[in-house]
Amino acid sequence: MKDKTWFSSTLLDWNRQSNDRQMPWKGEKDPYLVWLSEIILQQTRVEQGLPYFLRFKEKYPTVKHLAKAPEDDVMRLWQGLGYYSRARNLHHTAKHIASELKGIFPATYHDIVKLKGIGPYTAAAIASFIFGEKQAVVDGNVIRVLARIYGIDLPFDTTEGKKAFSELAQKLISDTHPGEYNQAIMDFGATVCVPANPKCDICPFADKCVAYQENRQEELPVRAKRITKKERFFYYVVLKDNKEIIITKRSANDIWKGLYELPMLESPKAIRKNIGEAVSTFLGKKVKIESYSKPYTQQLTHQTIQSVFIFIDGEDLQNVHIEGAQKVPLKKLPTFAFPKVVHLFLVENSLL
Ligand code: SF4
Repeated sequence: MKDKTWFSSTLLDWNRQSNDRQMPWKGEKDPYLVWLSEIILQQTRVEQGLPYFLRFKEKYPTVKHLAKAPEDDVMRLWQGLGYYSRARNLHHTAKHIASELKGIFPATYHDIVKLKGIGPYTAAAIASFIFGEKQAVVDGNVIRVLARIYGIDLPFDTTEGKKAFSELAQKLISDTHPGEYNQAIMDFGATVCVPANPKCDICPFADKCVAYQENRQEELPVRAKRITKKERFFYYVVLKDNKEIIITKRSANDIWKGLYELPMLESPKAIRKNIGEAVSTFLGKKVKIESYSKPYTQQLTHQTIQSVFIFIDGEDLQNVHIEGAQKVPLKKLPTFAFPKVVHLFLVENSLL
């Protein structure tokens, strides 16, 4: 292995001389705000996550403010970011810190990683940035950088691969500047050693980087499994009059838990015929379909959601009995958080 000092000093030199990536949470000394930024940025591009971070910081400046907020408000502020379990866990953990830990954020990796919704990556980021603890962050960016520089072709999504990358990252982290090192490797992976067309011509590691020397940047890192996506078919029933509409809250342990939607019939495959019958059975009475929306598709990491919205002819809202349904004034719709497809449908149909 190329020596540790070479790696960390090259990285820290690059950080001090060439890294100009600005983030509002960089240099932040409040663990709550670093935690908030890390949770918002998981699976999210910085440009998309930044306005959310600023809105959360403004509305909930401390963990106690977040702990006191009603869940619906938190979900509404999160709306559009996806991966809603992150918002629920954030809220849950804020309440836990406020009530069980007297509002004081834990100060060690060991204690931080026990909090719900905080995995090893976020715990290492908080522990190193705020408390100067030597815990290496390992995520897709870090794995890509290490796999390329060290020419590691062990699949990173296997138990063996995960262990090997974690051990190597922990060996390489700077003894004296662990927080700066972690921030630097994240920034380096996000701005120089990027997935497609890495900027090898300006890279300080190029003369020793195995991927560059052997022209294998495209091949590394190696993934063992291909993700197969499950397809789901959602049929939403639009039950409304001039003043009110029926909505339901998703409460099962499934995608979009805690968000609102229209009454929905899920089918294991696309319903091509007799959709009127299926909707009548769902509503428990015979209905006549007036029209359908265009199909809406939403890609999630492991699922593809196909949605169609169905308008019912002359519906009388008084006679609708759907479990968990609530009738709300149309003008109140903006106060609820909806999944992206439902939100888009409501906007396109001038309901939001
Ligand atoms: S030389 Fe290219 S592939 Fe190697 S670390 Fe630098 S940017 Fe990444």
